[in-house]
Amino acid sequence: MTNNGIVIVGGGLAAARTAEQLRRAAYDGPVTIVSDEVHLPYDRPPLSKEVLRSEVDDVALKPREWYDDKNITLRLGAAATGLDTTAQTVSLADGSELGYDELVIATGLVPRRIPSFPDLEGVRVLRSFDESMALRTHAAASRKAVVIGAGFIGCEVAASLRGLGVDVVLVEPQPTPLASVLGEQIGALVTRLHRAEGVDVRTGLGVAEVRGAGHVDTVVLTDGAEISADLVVVGIGSLPATDWLADSGIDVANGVVCDEAGRTSAPHVWALGDVASWKDATGHQARVEHWSNVADQARVVVPAMLGAEVPSNVVVPYFWSDQYDVKIQCLGEPEATDIVHLIEDDGRKFLAYYERDGVFVGVVGGGLPGKVMKVRAKIANATPIAEMLG
Ligand code: FAD
Repeated sequence: MTNNGIVIVGGGLAAARTAEQLRRAAYDGPVTIVSDEVHLPYDRPPLSKEVLRSEVDDVALKPREWYDDKNITLRLGAAATGLDTTAQTVSLADGSELGYDELVIATGLVPRRIPSFPDLEGVRVLRSFDESMALRTHAAASRKAVVIGAGFIGCEVAASLRGLGVDVVLVEPQPTPLASVLGEQIGALVTRLHRAEGVDVRTGLGVAEVRGAGHVDTVVLTDGAEISADLVVVGIGSLPATDWLADSGIDVANGVVCDEAGRTSAPHVWALGDVASWKDATGHQARVEHWSNVADQARVVVPAMLGAEVPSNVVVPYFWSDQYDVKIQCLGEPEATDIVHLIEDDGRKFLAYYERDGVFVGVVGGGLPGKVMKVRAKIANATPIAEMLG
């Protein structure tokens, strides 16, 4: 073993949480975070919410002094370009190499774009702080936006743009927003929410073309409709940021393939966060793109890496999405194919229980936080749905 210590590639939540857990576990060797961004590791959820609405500018997860105090080296603006798992080195874009004893891959995602779109001003994606600031500048001068894709980010951007007074058309190929995650029944309630706020929700459609001379001015939908727009936000999902691993021999299949503790196919190389596909309790590979999952994984990968005992408590997955004044929360593992029991619906706020094979597997609430959190233990204990409905 050299004294290169632990190198974390990626400068987002997963990097920060891993570094934090390492010091908390009393690991006192060198820790280096390598990020292609120039910013301190920061939080992404506000990018489609408070940052876009100009309510917040500082989203750093920790101040610079925290890294100094914890003796964590930050290599910012330094993209990793390659990995040699035999020599145990990472190459950086500036031509330098960094040795490691243990390597953590935490490079997150890159937003998908539509390659056939011409390169026009006013066509944006959203993943990074810089993209959020650029989108906010465009939004300030914009009257009408088309948001392509009604996943969580598309829905949140639509809501934030409405809050800024921009007219919004939300275009989604599926029958409802969020249909592939929460199913069409709850998706219909999300449609209702957006329509009540004045969003023109168009489902079952795609975008055929964007037009403009230098700046976007028209969006053509697949049903032939032509919409005048001065802003287009492409929210059609993201792909794992694994290009830099292409020649490394690391097993990649919809993310870096890991076991249930974040071990990759190469010795001394680990992965977590949005880029990582971990083996779940049922033995399937699953990649999760939610904030809470990152901390849950950091609490496993760090002890595993240090040869300490890995916690075995049952984690009930959780995520949220803020749209207008409604916090949509999801606890457990609901799937679009589950049976959905609508427990409450007042026309805006709602609560739904998800059933699979007679078991209560998840809850989704809109604007009812207490009622969502209350059933955590019931989900963890695989309670029969009949008991929940009785
Ligand atoms: P990231 O945060 O993406 O960090 C990866 C970092 O690695 C980035 O800084 C990237 O630039 C860097 N990197 C990539 N390639 C390289 C390379 N080759 N070399 C060096 N560095 C590299 N989740 C929720 O549960 N609720 C929400 O409301 C919510 N809102 C969100 C809103 C937005 C706009 C976005 C984008 C995400 C949201 N999420 C939300 C998801 C949550 O933010 C992610 O799950 C979390 O950020 C994942 O952290 P990560 O560190 O794995 O990836």
